[in-house]
Amino acid sequence: MSDAVKIAVIGGGPAGMLAAIKAVATLDRAGVADAGEKVVLFDKNDILGRKIYLTGRGRCNITNTRPWSDFSQHIHPDKGFLKHAFRSFSNEDVMRFFEELGVPVIVLQGQRVFPASLKAADVARALEKRIHALGIDVRKESVDLNRFMSLLSEGPVVLATGGKSYPMTGSTGDGYQFASGAGHTVTSLFPSETALMPKEYNRDLEGLEMKNVGLSLFIDKDMVQREEGDFIFTDDGLESGIAYKISRRAVWAMVNGQKVEVVLDLKPALSLEKLSVRIARDVTEMPGKPRMRSLLRGLMPERMIDPFISANPGLDIENLAPRLKEWRFRISGYKGYERAVVTAGGVSLKEVSQKTMESKIKPGLFLAGEVLDLDGDTGGYNLQIAFSTGALAGCSAAKRLLTFFQAD
Ligand SMILES: Cc1cc2nc3c(=O)[nH]c(=O)nc-3n(C[C@H](O)[C@H](O)[C@H](O)COP(=O)(O)OP(=O)(O)OC[C@H]3O[C@@H](n4cnc5c(N)ncnc54)[C@H](O)[C@@H]3O)c2cc1C
Repeated sequence: MSDAVKIAVIGGGPAGMLAAIKAVATLDRAGVADAGEKVVLFDKNDILGRKIYLTGRGRCNITNTRPWSDFSQHIHPDKGFLKHAFRSFSNEDVMRFFEELGVPVIVLQGQRVFPASLKAADVARALEKRIHALGIDVRKESVDLNRFMSLLSEGPVVLATGGKSYPMTGSTGDGYQFASGAGHTVTSLFPSETALMPKEYNRDLEGLEMKNVGLSLFIDKDMVQREEGDFIFTDDGLESGIAYKISRRAVWAMVNGQKVEVVLDLKPALSLEKLSVRIARDVTEMPGKPRMRSLLRGLMPERMIDPFISANPGLDIENLAPRLKEWRFRISGYKGYERAVVTAGGVSLKEVSQKTMESKIKPGLFLAGEVLDLDGDTGGYNLQIAFSTGALAGCSAAKRLLTFFQAD
């Protein structure tokens, strides 16, 4: 009987592939012969890790070098849940792991880690190559609820089916249904790291990349979050960088019917007083009668001048400084899963052991990656969540399989 028992990993994304690789390593260390054949990896796509190819705009931001004390500030909704998994397969372990797979890494933009080639495909292909080299049984099969329940009755299962974002990559939320079928609670799901759509959106802003600006998020008139950095005005609204950072709370507020406003500070490095002094100096240095457009030319990109003027009726030199620091956008919507980087919400963390990733409801079921109610900010945090929880789930599932052999 024990020879037939295998670990089934459902989902061949970063979490599932790490689970499969680490399961084999654990079995191998325990002296199991042909360990790779004891692991079956299911994915509905022809290639593994399809979403990885799209990550980091094709460059794949693998992880982030911050130490746990800083790293954990970017994990939601419960950083404590990830602590053990992170410690057992940390950001440094991830970098070492990829170097060993033949994918050298570099640190860019502060603490973001990328493959040195800046090609996401190199990351996905290295993982897939390792899976095949280990002799793991890869099945290109879409698992349904019945199949999931039957696999669960046969041996350890790692559920790593991802979330609902970018469904064309295969992540269609199937795992939530499977986990519910096994008795789990799935918390409210909503898209995060997605475009925030202003009520009156001036299309002339489209394509403008904002550098070193501030965004403050107001919910029902209270300021709840402020970020400084970069973002882009896209065809859908405020997107990328700091816009993604505030999107989690903004979307959740909209889901709950609250009013959301975003205030753009075009000069975050200058206090209101200092900006007023600078404008007064520019005015005195200007030959002839001061003209608003000429003033604005020194304060913002040319393309922004018309949208800024039309969004700020009654603009004059006296109120220019406060208007530059407080350009208010009423947000009326957000882009859904088809455009969201990550799905917030998922299988309740209260029902999963943080030490093993095993279900507290259904022994033998292990969960990893985005299917869990765990997500991170933009900056490599989501892939690290997938790698850490996947690695831990794979090791734990292998230890569970070993108990089958010992029982024999
Ligand atoms: C455009 C974009 C850019 C991103 N960039 C970054 C980045 O640079 N850095 C970062 O940290 N994060 C990034 N992310 C987020 C990150 O990619 C995800 O959080 C991560 O891929 C989640 O890993 P996962 O293994 O849990 O799930 P997924 O990667 O979603 O993998 C799940 C797999 O399960 C398979 N599957 C699903 N259901 C079934 C089924 N029923 N049967 C068989 N197979 C099934 C799917 O085909 C899929 O391959 C990005 C996301 C997107 C959409």
